Amino acid sequence: MEHRTADPVLAEGPAAYGRALRAHLSEEPLLKEWRHTGHVPTEERMAAHARLMAHLYKTGWNRYGWPKEAGGLGGDERHRAVLYDELAAAGLPVPGAHMLLETLGPPVVRFAPHLAARHLPAFLRGEEWWGQGFSEPEAGSDLAGLRCRARREGNTYVVSGQKLWTSHGATATRLVCLVRTGTLESRHRGLSMLMIDADAPGVTTRPIALASGDNELAELFFDDVVVPADRLIGEEGQGWGVAMYLLQFERAMYAWLSSAEALRRLRELRDAAASRTAAGKRLPGGAALRLGTCYTDLVALRARSARTVLALASGRTVGPEASVDKVLLATVETGLFDLAREVLAEDFVLGGDAGAVQWRADWWYSRSATILGGSAEVQRTILADHVLGLPREAKP
Ligand SMILES: Cc1cc2nc3c(=O)[nH]c(=O)nc-3n(C[C@H](O)[C@H](O)[C@H](O)COP(=O)(O)OP(=O)(O)OC[C@H]3O[C@@H](n4cnc5c(N)ncnc54)[C@H](O)[C@@H]3O)c2cc1C
Repeated sequence: MEHRTADPVLAEGPAAYGRALRAHLSEEPLLKEWRHTGHVPTEERMAAHARLMAHLYKTGWNRYGWPKEAGGLGGDERHRAVLYDELAAAGLPVPGAHMLLETLGPPVVRFAPHLAARHLPAFLRGEEWWGQGFSEPEAGSDLAGLRCRARREGNTYVVSGQKLWTSHGATATRLVCLVRTGTLESRHRGLSMLMIDADAPGVTTRPIALASGDNELAELFFDDVVVPADRLIGEEGQGWGVAMYLLQFERAMYAWLSSAEALRRLRELRDAAASRTAAGKRLPGGAALRLGTCYTDLVALRARSARTVLALASGRTVGPEASVDKVLLATVETGLFDLAREVLAEDFVLGGDAGAVQWRADWWYSRSATILGGSAEVQRTILADHVLGLPREAKP
């Protein structure tokens, strides 16, 4: 359809969009504000990223890849993938809220276009972001056992229960939650997805500090929160199907976005290693080989992830295969930041400047790469069962 549009950027395809964006990012003096690598607390970082999103929205660049009805300018996942690559190549951060946008935006566009039209433009402008309320104290890997309940009362749902480990949950303006509308025994068939305003009466958010000290996670409490029924994403009882649609974006588009960031960080690590050598400091044995291995792991991820992005862009359901991308990403992130810890040696452990603090924060966060979005063990089981079709282990 692209050739019929009047927008020359769309007409020429994602590669031309990338070239035009690269020219913009290299010339734009305003972007100096975001071209730094040092650590800042989560709240400050999200505010700076929100300003970057406002700029990208005003100039149109982050509106490609999203439908016009939801504040976008058209295009598909390829445009979003190119945006992340070009930001990282320019030494700019991929705004933290884009991780949530990639996870929650596609299901809202697909299953609740009225909510996408109402709220997605503000997300793209950096004025709001959403939290993903799936996990609970007794339901992480076993999501179908979740207990947070929504009971129908007229044109509303009344929500009671708890969510845990919600990324950016303390500052999110809306919470996309998987809730139980059926019985506990109905497992995944009794679930629905609701968009809840974070400032609705009865919602309490409690920040959880990461090991690095950043307030990035939160637990959420819902005490008879009244939610209009038109906040349903999909039909009542369809929540599991919507969640499965969502997970392929959470695992696949997030992997692409994170691989762009990882490439930027690997370049910075290479430069830091060179500076240490120039200053007469020794690198640990095998450092060059390990930098190379890290790069080839990253290239393998990108090769795989590029195919997944193209599949999503063509409207294909990726489903369980997205777990491949997720497993490769965890390998890259843990390997990259373990290597940074060794290469930067005493600077990593003791360095007090913003750059060293950021390496430490990234190392801590990379410990969760095998947990968030579904643990590595669960991903491998999905691959064994649904992609490779391996026989089930015999019960002893
Ligand atoms: C940094 C971070 C951000 C997160 N952000 C969000 C968010 O925004 N929204 C959200 O809803 N959740 C979020 N989570 C939660 C995350 O999705 C869960 O932690 C994850 O799904 C694991 O669930 P759990 O913590 O309950 O662990 P459990 O499910 O209790 O698992 C504990 C251990 O048992 C293993 N295990 C469990 N079941 C099996 C099985 N069947 N086979 C083999 N091994 C198994 C797991 O692999 C794990 O090692 C986040 C987590 C982290 C660390």
